[in-house]
Order: sequence, then structure tokens, then C-alpha cells
Amino acid sequence: MIKMMKIMMFGVRDDERAAAKEWAEKNNVEVTFSTDILTLDTVEQLKGYDGVTTQQSIKFDEGVYERLNELGIKQIAQRSAGFDMYNLEQARKSNIIISNVPSYSPNSIAEYAVTSALQLVRKTHLIDQKVKEQDFRWQKPIMSREVKSLEVAIIGTGRIGQITARIFKAFGCKVVGYDLYPNEQAKEYLEYKDSVEDAVKHADIVSIHMPATDDNYHLFNEDLFGAFKQDAVFVNTARGSIVDTKALLRALDSGKLFGAALDTYENESIYFPKDCRDKEITDPMMIELMERDDVILTPHIAFYTDIAVQNLVEGGLDAALSVIKTGTCETRVN
Ligand code: NAD
Repeated sequence: MIKMMKIMMFGVRDDERAAAKEWAEKNNVEVTFSTDILTLDTVEQLKGYDGVTTQQSIKFDEGVYERLNELGIKQIAQRSAGFDMYNLEQARKSNIIISNVPSYSPNSIAEYAVTSALQLVRKTHLIDQKVKEQDFRWQKPIMSREVKSLEVAIIGTGRIGQITARIFKAFGCKVVGYDLYPNEQAKEYLEYKDSVEDAVKHADIVSIHMPATDDNYHLFNEDLFGAFKQDAVFVNTARGSIVDTKALLRALDSGKLFGAALDTYENESIYFPKDCRDKEITDPMMIELMERDDVILTPHIAFYTDIAVQNLVEGGLDAALSVIKTGTCETRVN
């Protein structure tokens, strides 16, 4: 009898189980769930397994790689695009292939970026408040701008940036963009500018879609916000570290920015995506972002749709199975 392959899914959330069960049936693989994260202690659960997928968000205990090797496991399949929590070199030395899921639903993030920009521009969050107060008057503070007449700047025109640009274009907006490496296809729906400053100068909405690198740490600082058009709306569904939050708050206080939608925040890892209902929030900047009417703060949730979760689960399990069967996988990063 042929032995059934066994893959352990670490850090599993309830919403991932259905997609994993379906995948297991389709691929004739036994998939076991563990809500634990993968550490030197929990790695022992993998005795007798062929592969592992996980969803690590904190730095990895480096002893895990060698222990996996000893247990005969050849890979770790991360169920996210980011893989900065792994020491790729250390993993390679222990013959462990690390893989990610590079693109699981760029539409989900793009749609969310547009949604939160529209909320701010059309002031739906303020209108909601008025309705709750039973104040149903049409009045200046809740009169909004027409989206079609606005200019939008997309900074970072890769997978997500391009979809965001296309959606805004469909509204009839003028769309400009900036990228270190302009994309030929993107020129169909946006006009490239030569610098970030040029791109933001006349934009009513600025939406950022680039990865966090050493070079763009706090790229959006006091000087750059100073170059924005008066009353612009700023949207960050990319990475918190790209934005100097103090400078952003000053730009909101001075009235330079009309509002900001932040799905990511530079010090988010203490809080996102955790249940903090019984916890005191001690970060004063985070408290301010949560309390302000001109900021929509959300817990790194732009990706979180049915399709994205399914693609992440399947992407992780596919990568694990591919390494088990062929010794490698298309999404390996080391
Ligand atoms: P991508 O690699 O397809 O595109 C990124 C683009 O940014 C590339 O074209 C690159 O040339 C450009 N770029 C890099 N550095 C730049 C800089 N300093 N200035 C201008 N352009 C620069 O990536 P993607 O799949 O479109 O993802 C974009 C970002 O979205 C990711 O890096 C990630 O940070 C973020 N993201 C967020 C969520 C969420 O839930 N909020 C989920 C997934 C991804």
C-alpha cells in the first residue's frame, strides 16, 4: 500500500480549515492542524511528517532548521508573501527550502485601498456618525468631493499598484504614478512622473504600493508630505515603515492632509492581528491614530478575503507537496 503523505499546518486559523480540508481531499494528502507557531518545542510535533506549512510573523528560532533536517523534513512553506522572519542562509545550510506565496490576490488589496480612499473622500465615516446622532441634515462638513474629478497618484506600480490604478481610471480619475522601474503595460492607464515628489504634487489621493526596503524607510516624511497638494488623502496598504507616522500626524494637524487610511502602521506588530480587547494600548501614536476622525486605521487586513485565504492555504500546501515530491518548488526563496 502506498503511504499517504502527511503535512502539518502550523499557526492555523479557523477560517483556513475548510480550504485546507478540500485541498487534502483533492491531493490525497493527510493535513493535520496545529494552532501553535513553529518553535524548538513545537517542532517535535512533526515526527513522522513529510512536510510543513506555517504562518510565522515573528523571527524564527534558528535551531528549528537543523531539527527539521534531523526529522527528515526538507522545507517550510510560509503562507504569506513576506518571508523576512526566516534566516534564508541558515535554512539553506540545514537543507531547508523556504517558500512563500508571492501573489495570492492583488485585487483584494487594491480593492481595499480604493474602498478606504473613497470612504475618506466621500466622508462616509462622518456621515455614519451623524446618522447615529440622528442628525440627518445636509451640511458642509459632510459635503464631499466628486471622485471622478480627482487626480490619483500610485506610488509603486507593481501587481497591486496597477490594479488600484485601473480601478481609479474606471472612475474617470486622472491617474499618475511613480516607480523605480516603470512598467510598459501600466502606461495604458497611468502617466508616469520622474519622482515621487512630482507624482504627489497635484494628487488628491496618494496610494502607496511598494515593498519596505532599507532605502524607503520613512520615505514619506515631513518634506515629502510638505510637497503634497493641500487637502490630499493618503492611503497606505503597503508597509508601515515607509511612513514617518509623526510627520503624517503633523501633516494632518496642519490641515495639509485631509485624511489618511492606514492599513499598516510602523509599530503594528505588538497589536496586529491580535485580540487586544482586554489589553491596555500603551503606544500613544497608535492611540491617536485610532481616535482621530481623519484617520481610518485598520489591522493589516486589506488582503483578507475568501479568495486570498484560499490561495494562501493552497499556495502553502502546494509548495510543501512540490518539495516532498520533486525536491524543489516554484516559490522557493532560498
Ligand atoms: P510588486 O513587487 O508587484 O510591486 C512593487 C512595486 O514597487 C515594484 O514595481 C517596484 O519596482 C516598486 N518599488 C519598489 N521600491 C520602490 C520605491 N522606493 N519607490 C517606488 N517604487 C518602488 O508588489 P505587490 O504585490 O504589488 O505588493 C505591493 C506591496 O503591498 C507589498 O510589498 C506589501 O508591502 C503590500 N501588501 C500589503 C498587504 C495588506 O494586506 N495590507 C498584503 C499584501 C501585500
